Amino acid sequence: MDARRRIPATDRVLADPLLHGAADRLGHDVVRRAVHDAQQQARHGHLPPEQVAAAARAALPDTACGMRRVINASGVLLHTNLGRAPLSDAAIDAVRATAGTSDVELDLTTGRRGPRGRGTRDALIDAVPAAEDAHVVNNGAAALSLAATALAAGREIVLARGELVEIGDGFRIPDLLTATGARLREVGTTNRVHLADYQDALGPDTGFVLKVHPSNFRITGFTSHVTVAELRTLPAPVVADIGSGLLHPHPKLPAEPDAQRTLAAGADLVTASGDKLLGGPQAGLLLGTTDLITRLRRHPLARALRVDKLTLAALEATVRGPATPTARALARTPAELLDRAHHVAAALRDRGIDADAHDSTATVGGGGAPGVELPSAAITLPARFATALRTAPTPVLGRVEQDRCLLDLLAVAPTDDHTLIDTTAAADRCT
Ligand SMILES: *Cc1c(COP(=O)(O)O)cnc(C)c1O
Repeated sequence: MDARRRIPATDRVLADPLLHGAADRLGHDVVRRAVHDAQQQARHGHLPPEQVAAAARAALPDTACGMRRVINASGVLLHTNLGRAPLSDAAIDAVRATAGTSDVELDLTTGRRGPRGRGTRDALIDAVPAAEDAHVVNNGAAALSLAATALAAGREIVLARGELVEIGDGFRIPDLLTATGARLREVGTTNRVHLADYQDALGPDTGFVLKVHPSNFRITGFTSHVTVAELRTLPAPVVADIGSGLLHPHPKLPAEPDAQRTLAAGADLVTASGDKLLGGPQAGLLLGTTDLITRLRRHPLARALRVDKLTLAALEATVRGPATPTARALARTPAELLDRAHHVAAALRDRGIDADAHDSTATVGGGGAPGVELPSAAITLPARFATALRTAPTPVLGRVEQDRCLLDLLAVAPTDDHTLIDTTAAADRCT
């Protein structure tokens, strides 16, 4: 009989107890799609008809969401296309615990409405003593737009020409600022700006002076810039967009500004992202004086930019909890990474794969610490592995350099080393 006619009908496959149970967890559409894909493979002769149910079971995703976990072996610590910072276990637990109904905006002692996100705000001002108050919005760009709208709409934002930053994917901070109705008053030249340039530009129309951290490029050579400590002497509020969200200085990233020192130097308001070097969820942090934060919080736009309870929970646990995966990655030493790379490479050679261990250079990425090289180590494989690993059941993103596929270990948790071994061995069988 024609094998195609032996392909079981969808309803019969769906009666398989495991697939039936999976439908409760993943939804009928997800399971049905896995069954249809398996039937399709059988129709094309790629699968024996009696294995349709088993193939559908094996192809079921872990969750009802199409996005998948990807192991970041790219050597870019904060990879924007991979969702920037991975959450800590503490943050994931906090998200799970509050994902149902939670007291995000309820005072349980009085039974009345309470201040939304109070715990997250308290965590931020405990961590950054120079901040009198804090407010959280959707991302760094939202933090800047709220500040520009509430403090400078119809007025001027004074900023240096060398700080007109394009964040990425065509988004430009100057466009974001003017979209709020504020006007830009650019001062200085691309490479140099002096306090007197700012002084000359100030007037009755000034909303605030803005300092933007050039977080994804560096201007070197004949340069000069004005520090926050100097800007504070001007008769206008100083807003500093520090970008990466470091709350305190990091020893490996000395040029990266942090919230505590920037506020202590005299900034009235600091804006930053939650999912860069802070290592938390996507969020925009606003830290500063009681007066300014109160004005931002009360502005109507604040409601449009507010974050949900999952973000508040993850952010609070990130700030209060143990070291984040991002902080732990930054703390890894090249020797420890090379040791792991040797280990993985040896296990792969045992399986007949042309694998080696090598020093590597990783970067922070994601709009932080431009030009900083982080000494790391990588497993090197034939270049063909790059695609095979990216399309594996647990995808691994490496990078190709000089015709070798590199799996850089800086951003890989040691607990994932065995997954790298298993996935690479399986990929070898498929390529
Ligand atoms: C990343 C970055 C932003 C944008 O922050 P998002 O969280 O991506 O919206 C703004 N300013 C600077 C300096 C940045 O580095």
